[in-house]
Amino acid sequence: MSPAPPLRGAARQGWDSLLADPTQALLAFDFDGTLSPIVDDPERAYAHPDVIAVLGRLGTVVGAVAVVTGRPVASVLRLAEPAGVPGLESLVVLGQYGIERWDAATGEFAAPPPPGEIARVRDALPGLLADLDLAAARIEDKGRAVAVHVRTSANPVAALERLRVPLALLAAEHGLILEPGRLVLEMRPPGMDKGQALLLLVAERRVSTVVYAGDDLGDLAAYDAVDAWRGEGRTGLLICSASAEQDALSRRADVVVPGPDGLVRWLAELADQLGV
Ligand SMILES: [Mg+2]
Repeated sequence: MSPAPPLRGAARQGWDSLLADPTQALLAFDFDGTLSPIVDDPERAYAHPDVIAVLGRLGTVVGAVAVVTGRPVASVLRLAEPAGVPGLESLVVLGQYGIERWDAATGEFAAPPPPGEIARVRDALPGLLADLDLAAARIEDKGRAVAVHVRTSANPVAALERLRVPLALLAAEHGLILEPGRLVLEMRPPGMDKGQALLLLVAERRVSTVVYAGDDLGDLAAYDAVDAWRGEGRTGLLICSASAEQDALSRRADVVVPGPDGLVRWLAELADQLGV
């Protein structure tokens, strides 16, 4: 599975730049479905067992490594345990779509206080789900966002469809936006997405090549940001951690790998090629 031969155009340039000068590259990753296999209960998620080691290898040679996720920072730190890992001394974790930030270099965590609308929406959800006969749906309070997961419902796809309009209305009523994902709908404040979060980090780190890997609709904003970056004559590479549940990214990606397992293999091959 060599990532080099099939690449063309901007993708080829991104790959060549990455190999030629990795110190000028930012490697950024979504978490769930990308670095971590999707599981029924998000609280029982786990990082792919080999992923932190391979990111540590790459971290010794690339300009920067970042995780850009809808999850709270604290949950990524708990599940992936990246603190103190050799090679990840300057890892940045951007949580809740970039509203929260953790820097491995300083151990500092930064976040504004959570908005009150989230608690009000969370309190309204059990009644709304009961009214819709969807009590099996799982509510996940992320502090700055509330997600409703239907993976454990009897018919998840039908449950997702039934929820879409009521949740859009509930979100709008509280000034929140509705973010769809893989068998999940999430309500959060507008104003930040993975694309903005990624570009802020790119500007700060002054890298010239941006590599982004994701698996779901929330990653499209980051894909848009990398495309815009490349449109300005810079280099980047889009990677999709593919699943049977979502194909919106695979159609736009330069490199499609089969889920977190495939991503870990691809990253290991990249590390081999970079000699680390
Ligand atoms: Mg994901």
